[in-house]
Amino acid sequence: MKQLPSYIKKENDIYWLTEDERENLKISYRIREIVYFEKSPYQDVMILDSYDFGRMLVLDGVVQTTSIDGYIYNEMISHIPLNFHPNPKRVLIIGGGDLGAAQEVTKYDQVEKIDLVEIDQLVVEASKKYLSEISGDLSDPRVELIYHDGVEFVKNHHNQYDVIIVDSSDPIGPAKQLFEYEFYHHIYRALKEDGIMVCQSQSPLLHFDVLKQTYKHIQTLFPITRLYMTTVPTYPGGFWSFTLGSKKYDQLLPNIPFDKQTRYVNKDILYHSFSLPEFVHHKLNEI
Ligand code: SAM
Repeated sequence: MKQLPSYIKKENDIYWLTEDERENLKISYRIREIVYFEKSPYQDVMILDSYDFGRMLVLDGVVQTTSIDGYIYNEMISHIPLNFHPNPKRVLIIGGGDLGAAQEVTKYDQVEKIDLVEIDQLVVEASKKYLSEISGDLSDPRVELIYHDGVEFVKNHHNQYDVIIVDSSDPIGPAKQLFEYEFYHHIYRALKEDGIMVCQSQSPLLHFDVLKQTYKHIQTLFPITRLYMTTVPTYPGGFWSFTLGSKKYDQLLPNIPFDKQTRYVNKDILYHSFSLPEFVHHKLNEI
């Protein structure tokens, strides 16, 4: 095994992963097994088997998704925009290398093509091989895997997608540009005239600066901007936010039948997803 990075420590024969990207917060997970570890040109790629959260994808020491709570995030980032749009046919996912969001999008028969643009092929390969609880087998022929920088990709695509899902890692390393205004400007142009986009916009408790900036970018470009939230236990602070930008549609149509096989999203969650806690309303009013 290659030399372990500093965020993995062995104490009395027990491995611990410690996420320590924040100055005042360290989160540690007891690890049963290091299943996979490679360095790609972009980041350290690990699949760990943890005691409490099962298998997890870890990039540069930061937990991205786990077999215990990954479905919450993947269902929320996919089903909300796919139901907000009345007839999504062409979907683009940027990032999303664990393939969990793509799995959810394949549940929609009216979707004809799903382009998934992931910068790091190793993330996809490791997830397919060692994290099938999230990635599934993804044999659906509508999915095209494109290994490319999402920022460059959207620059060259105009007026093509009904829904764009930005399933990015945190705004450091290769994902930094996925939180910048220019990127959202190109996303706007890559969408059809009634298109919808959604991105993960971090924690309203711990990363409000990122949320605020992302929300502002989207609000500047799109006539309709909506924030929604969920709880993902392995993301710092638990609460997690998504920001949706829409060119035309401004609400979920009443009485859409929701018949997908899911573990988190259901009809009630779908219709109440835009109900926000009071402190978030307050914070958004300041933007
Ligand atoms: N659900 C996760 C979360 O919120 O932490 C993120 C899921 S997914 C693993 C994020 C992916 O975005 C990573 O696989 C990373 O390689 C990819 N990524 C980062 N920067 C990118 C870029 N510029 N273009 C395309 N993919 C990118």
